[in-house]
Amino acid sequence: MSAGNGAAKRAAVIGAGFGGIALAIRLQAAGFATTLFERRDKPGGRAYVYEDQGFVFDAGPTVITDPSALEELFAVGGRRMADYVELIPVSPFYRLQWEGGGSFDYVNDQAELDRQIAARNPADVEGYRRFLAYSREVFAEGYLKLGTVPFLSFKDMVRAGPALARLQAWRSVYGIVSRFIQDDELRQAFSFHSLLVGGNPFATSSIYALIHALEREWGVWFPRGGTGALIHGLIRLFEDLGGTVRIGADVVRIDTEAGRAKAVVCRGGARETFDAVASNADVVHTYEKLLGHDPVGQRRASALKSKRFSMSLFVIYFGLKRHRPEIRHHTVLFGPRYRGLIDDIFNRETLADDFSLYLHSPCATDPSLAPPGAGSFYVLAPVPHLGNAPLDWEREGPRYRDRILDYLEARIIPGLREDLVTVRHFAPTDFRDELNAHLGSAFSLEPVLTQSAWFRPHNRDAAIPNLYIVGAGTHPGAGVPGVVGSAKATAGLMLADAGLAGP
Ligand SMILES: Cc1cc2nc3c(=O)[nH]c(=O)nc-3n(C[C@H](O)[C@H](O)[C@H](O)COP(=O)(O)OP(=O)(O)OC[C@H]3O[C@@H](n4cnc5c(N)ncnc54)[C@H](O)[C@@H]3O)c2cc1C
Repeated sequence: MSAGNGAAKRAAVIGAGFGGIALAIRLQAAGFATTLFERRDKPGGRAYVYEDQGFVFDAGPTVITDPSALEELFAVGGRRMADYVELIPVSPFYRLQWEGGGSFDYVNDQAELDRQIAARNPADVEGYRRFLAYSREVFAEGYLKLGTVPFLSFKDMVRAGPALARLQAWRSVYGIVSRFIQDDELRQAFSFHSLLVGGNPFATSSIYALIHALEREWGVWFPRGGTGALIHGLIRLFEDLGGTVRIGADVVRIDTEAGRAKAVVCRGGARETFDAVASNADVVHTYEKLLGHDPVGQRRASALKSKRFSMSLFVIYFGLKRHRPEIRHHTVLFGPRYRGLIDDIFNRETLADDFSLYLHSPCATDPSLAPPGAGSFYVLAPVPHLGNAPLDWEREGPRYRDRILDYLEARIIPGLREDLVTVRHFAPTDFRDELNAHLGSAFSLEPVLTQSAWFRPHNRDAAIPNLYIVGAGTHPGAGVPGVVGSAKATAGLMLADAGLAGP
């Protein structure tokens, strides 16, 4: 496929996160000559990889859901995912543990779920069924129907209105779960999911309860070799299709001319012209820094800064001499408080004394991620973003790291300190400085109803017609399925605008 003058149309994608890579694949497969710019020394974005002394640490996403959306990327390129990367099913999906000693294995087996629910509160078996039915309905409406469709005009929102009203989208995730389920810990078990995409379960629209049905429908997976192996496979696919990847290419400016995006300028001065430009970089960074010279960029940046942003995360990557086979692949360690702690994370100006943690033990599924007999781990604690709590993380980081490691040692990994081979952490200031994330937010704009769909930054800018957004900051939002869905929505627009047939 080619432009009028016979040369292929050229597209730039700024940022090689899951969203940027997925978009680049779709564009390249459909005939755009596509260049992917990434400022860091490796692609992946939040899904970066650290390696140290034989330990491999996936920096971010570890719960891979909706494999069909990933398979589709290989299919549009005329390839098979199995030739690039293997996905392994994970069970239980998560082990949930409370400080009081209770635990719950969230599995994809109805009889086993019923047994565990009945042991806590028999009435909740029926309540859970009704919750699952609700979750499936939102999944069909919010994910299957609307997850990959761009919301460019308010009319699109009005059209979705009746369904949103029927599904009581004004309620919170926790509110809807509580309508069906009585047991306090089960309410936590079925509402914490929105935190995985940066949403406060007490404020995020009940639409996000769809994550539960999505996991039940398609399972939870882990790529052999880690999430980094999936990124590697997607980059290889893009390059096999003829795409160009520029690593260490820090874009500092998108030049505009006569109201259109014209060129991408990198630190050091290299400038390339394109027919269309898409940004997978943080949406505030995109408008404020890359388009700060243009009135549209200034206007959008100042409007965006008045929005609510998701919390940040404090993540510790550590390698132990001994693998701990008793620890499941994914464990959520609930602290003594649920609502109170979440309120502190989203609204308070400092760190709470307690925490709830997610512990990743990938060697439970793939021992190759650590030296023989050893174990790779990461643990994350949701923390306030820098706008709420402008902490000095240089000083606070090591202290907070030690508090969390002590807690893990006392609660779930005895002998942790003695076995420690390597440890590093990633704080809100690193999200800001390494990933250009506004306020160090881990998930971009908070997914509340008033910042979702049409209310979220659009997949195509309304004033610069060949400028597009892809990734967590646009529709539908954060999480791997979300940003891969955003790539489909954005690609559809770009291909239609360029007169190229969409795959
Ligand atoms: C610790 C953690 C755990 C998570 N766990 C899960 C999970 O288990 N499952 C799940 O589905 N989701 C999870 N998420 C969410 C998910 O990882 C993200 O929502 C998703 O990966 C974001 O993808 P993105 O396409 O928006 O781009 P990002 O990953 O944010 O990538 C954007 C890229 O743009 C680059 N960039 C920025 N500015 C420039 C510039 N000026 N020039 C060039 N490049 C630039 C950045 O370096 C980066 O590589 C997790 C997130 C975190 C942080």
